[in-house]
Amino acid sequence: MVPSVNSIPILDLTQQYATIEAEVSDVVLRVLASGGYIGGSQVLEFEQQFAAYIGVSNCVVCNSGTDALVLALRALEIGPGDEVITTPFTFFATAEVVSAVGAKPIFVDIDAQTFNLDIAQVETAIADKTKAIIPVHLFGQPVDMTALMAIAQAHQLAVIEDCAQATGALWAEQKVGSIGHIGCFSFYPTKNLGACGDGGAVTTNNQAIAAKMRILRSHGEKSHYHHEEIGLNSRLDALQAAILQIKLRYLDTWNEKRRAIAARYHKLLSHIPGIITPQEVAGGQGVWNQYTIRIQRSETGNYRDQLRQMLQERGVGSMVYYPRPLHLQPVYKDLGYHLGQFPVAEQACYEVLSLPMFPELSIEQQEQVIYCLKDCLTN
Ligand SMILES: *Cc1c(COP(=O)(O)O)cnc(C)c1O
Repeated sequence: MVPSVNSIPILDLTQQYATIEAEVSDVVLRVLASGGYIGGSQVLEFEQQFAAYIGVSNCVVCNSGTDALVLALRALEIGPGDEVITTPFTFFATAEVVSAVGAKPIFVDIDAQTFNLDIAQVETAIADKTKAIIPVHLFGQPVDMTALMAIAQAHQLAVIEDCAQATGALWAEQKVGSIGHIGCFSFYPTKNLGACGDGGAVTTNNQAIAAKMRILRSHGEKSHYHHEEIGLNSRLDALQAAILQIKLRYLDTWNEKRRAIAARYHKLLSHIPGIITPQEVAGGQGVWNQYTIRIQRSETGNYRDQLRQMLQERGVGSMVYYPRPLHLQPVYKDLGYHLGQFPVAEQACYEVLSLPMFPELSIEQQEQVIYCLKDCLTN
């Protein structure tokens, strides 16, 4: 008999909204009444606050994390004939943008413990056409930026950090997004700092690159109706900027709660046979956008998928981020990669399972997740 529980979603945005509802509805109504919906003080203030939070001199907001990556590549003039090294174990957008600007994504395998780019393998992939590296701080766990920047500097490559899942994470006491040449952030609602809609930002200490990204995000116009580039229409609207200003003030508290939840999961899960828990690496402080375990069992078929189904029947939500590595995506078949080429990433796709993780997840709910997980594993 399956024990009955109140269902526990992998993510619940309504609880967080309830804690800031008064503040948010107040500012939303003020923006609506103001008649200024695009640009304006809310957007400029948020750019300043976010730059200060990340610890850089420039922030340029835009429509999404995907556009943030496009703006970064375009500002660095990366395009046809160029290669960009990145990870095959990430959300599709990371590689998609490289293709979108006409360049070629070059994948290298990941590290089994962190799920992030295997830095040692990055160097072997560098060729004459390589222009940049896009490390992804996956699930909120920072990449070893000290090692990566050393390689990038030695080969004079640009580093574009994909910080979509890692707003607030630290590497060597510095916020991710302030260490590479450009940091790219997403404010998609499920990210650590999520808007009530789409949004994104780029951060950089390079004034010229920031100026270029500002021009590119607004139809390539340097001054009104004077177009110097083929750009994008990529804006963050005033409502989202106003909401993000409020949420930014809570981000550190929410990230602390995620860290406490991750620590508790670790304590409760790390001794269960067949489960491998994620661990923070020395030098980094993660922000746990996802808490992702590996399920290793010798049953025939994919036991992880079976387990996910059993958890679902017990009311516990979970997700597979990501079931298929990017080098094996149908759209990239012409790049010539094959199964077995990046065994660590491929194994991760087969074994990973992300458990409920959001700042408001209660201790009781977490214990319920563990109880159900154990119940599944012994059935
Ligand atoms: C969410 C995400 C993106 C894209 O962000 P959007 O705001 O959805 O466009 C890019 N890279 C990674 C790793 C992401 O998780």
